[in-house]
Amino acid sequence: MEVGEVDFVDRIIVKGDFEIAFPCQTDIIRNTLETESSLNALIANTFDMDDEDSVDLIYSSEALTEGELDLIGAKADIVFYNPGNPNSLYYISVNFDQDYLSYATDLSIASVTLHENVHAYLLYALEENEDWLIEGSSDNINYEILLESYIDYRAYKIYGTPLKSFTAMNFSFAHHEVITEFVEEIASTLREYGENQGYTLGNEFYNAMAWGGLKETLAWTLDLTEQKRQQYENIFLSEHLGVYPAKGTNCGN
Ligand SMILES: [Zn+2]
Repeated sequence: MEVGEVDFVDRIIVKGDFEIAFPCQTDIIRNTLETESSLNALIANTFDMDDEDSVDLIYSSEALTEGELDLIGAKADIVFYNPGNPNSLYYISVNFDQDYLSYATDLSIASVTLHENVHAYLLYALEENEDWLIEGSSDNINYEILLESYIDYRAYKIYGTPLKSFTAMNFSFAHHEVITEFVEEIASTLREYGENQGYTLGNEFYNAMAWGGLKETLAWTLDLTEQKRQQYENIFLSEHLGVYPAKGTNCGN
C-alpha cells in the first residue's frame, strides 16, 4: 500500500465521534476503501487528499428516520457550508443509520459504503459538471434525467425551495438508475474486500449485495428474472439485518 492511500483512508472518516462510537464499523469502512479497485481509485482521485482544495468526503452516523434513509441504511448528501449562497464551498456527507450499523454484517456495511460512495461521486460530478461521466456512461438519457433532477435538488438544498418538480423520490430514482451501471464495479470491489477478510463466497453472493438499494430501478426489473430478484433480495436482507443465513459477522454495539 502506498502512503497516499493510507492518508486518504485516514482522512475521510472525520465527523464527530463516529470512530469512537463505532470503532469496528470504522475498520470495516477503512478496509473497504483500502481494497484495490478502479471504483476505489475513482473515489480516491475525486476526493484527493493531497489537494487542499479538493472536496471532502465525510462519514458520519446518526439516527435517521425512514424518510431520510436511502433504501440501504445510509444516505449521501451534498452539504453547502453557506446555504443560501450557490457559490459556497461544500462537502459530501455519507451518513449511516446508527441502528443499521449495530445489526448489519461487515459484508453489508462494505457494500453500503461502496454504494454510497457512488452517490457521493455522482453528487460531486454533477456539482462540478464533470464531462467524462457522460462518456463513461452507457446511457446518456440516464445522465440527462440525473442532471435535471440535480438542478432541482441543488436549488432545494441552497434556497430551501425546489425550482420546479423536485421530490426526494425522483432524485433518488434518477441516481439509482445511474448506479445500476456501477453494479459490476461494486460487486468486484466487494468480492476483493471479502476475500481479503477470508471469506470464500461465490460471484452470485457479491452480485446480490451490489444490487442492494437498486430495487426500484428499471434495470432491476428488466435485467433480472423474478427468481434471481428473490434470491438476491434474500441474500441482501440477511446481511443487512445480520440474521440467518448471513455469511458475514456484525459488530454488535
Ligand atoms: Zn442509494
